[in-house]
Amino acid sequence: MRWAGLCALLLASLAQAEWYSEQQSIMGTSVSAQVWVEGEDAKSRAQEALAAVMAEMQRIDREYSPYKDTSQLSRANRLAPKASAAQPLSISAEFSLLIARSLHYGERSFGAFDITYASLGRYYDYRAGRKPSASERQQALPAINYRHVHLDAERHLLWFAHPQVYIDLGGIAKGYAVDRAVLLLRQRGIEHAVVSAGGDSRLLGDRRGQPWMVGIRNPRAAAGSAALRLPLENCAVSTSGDYERFFIDESGARAHHIINPSTGASAQGIMSATVIGPEGFDTDALSTSVFVLGVEKGITLINSMPGFDAIVISQDGKVHYSQGLAEPD
Ligand code: AMP
Ligand code: MG
Repeated sequence: MRWAGLCALLLASLAQAEWYSEQQSIMGTSVSAQVWVEGEDAKSRAQEALAAVMAEMQRIDREYSPYKDTSQLSRANRLAPKASAAQPLSISAEFSLLIARSLHYGERSFGAFDITYASLGRYYDYRAGRKPSASERQQALPAINYRHVHLDAERHLLWFAHPQVYIDLGGIAKGYAVDRAVLLLRQRGIEHAVVSAGGDSRLLGDRRGQPWMVGIRNPRAAAGSAALRLPLENCAVSTSGDYERFFIDESGARAHHIINPSTGASAQGIMSATVIGPEGFDTDALSTSVFVLGVEKGITLINSMPGFDAIVISQDGKVHYSQGLAEPD
């Protein structure tokens, strides 16, 4: 009787250790989180942690969505072109951090990563199959240059040195968001988790004794069909793909959402670029950078950055690896 009671007690406590998960549509993509929580009140603690993650994603979307008139980003796009060094726009410390890192990757990627791509990029409508017109292109192209964005990162002041500049953080904000989510989970004592926002994932710890298996999608197959799987733990992994948002234009070409700032057209040569590194803030910006730079320059950039690796699938379907990843047989 005593043993039966003890067993029941053990089973009850075992049932309090589980993986819990949640998925929502936020930031125009699928956001998901999976966490391991054990001990007393595991279920309610997991639910609270998952709710905190989703609330943080909603907050980031509210602040930086280009589609919400009330976001800080929309406010900056309205006011920063009219601001100046003498009369700059005051922004939040966090917005300043996001812009500073974006400008850093503008430099690091030789202009491939450029948040002012949106000066022209905003005229694309992938759902409606719309590209910018010739006159929109002519007007907006000179506005694409991250050097038009002036930031005083210490005092959180911003101004744009060109009247047509329009910025968008779509190439970096999801990576930042998964980092923030993992910070919130760690503050709650969680040691094993995965948080994803579209193509950006951050892995906390391992999968309890095993690595997380992160799939890199076959760019021309249905979602869920992996071209390869990587065993990873405690890192961030971001994939930029030409299949995320695109349409096939009248000439049969794929117009997709990653824009080459020097031409204003969709970047050519790569179907997907994956970057692995410590934090999503960096891997997100770098996956977009590598996509624009192309196979050779992109992999050279990643090889110059200790702690980062890349896997690139070029237009011909070939898979290319950075130095840190041995090619599988
Ligand atoms: P990702 O989702 O990280 O692959 O980045 C693609 C997103 O970044 C697009 O949906 C745009 O919002 C934005 N973007 C497109 N082209 C660029 C570029 N050249 N530099 C920075 N951001 C870009
Ligand atoms: Mg990216």
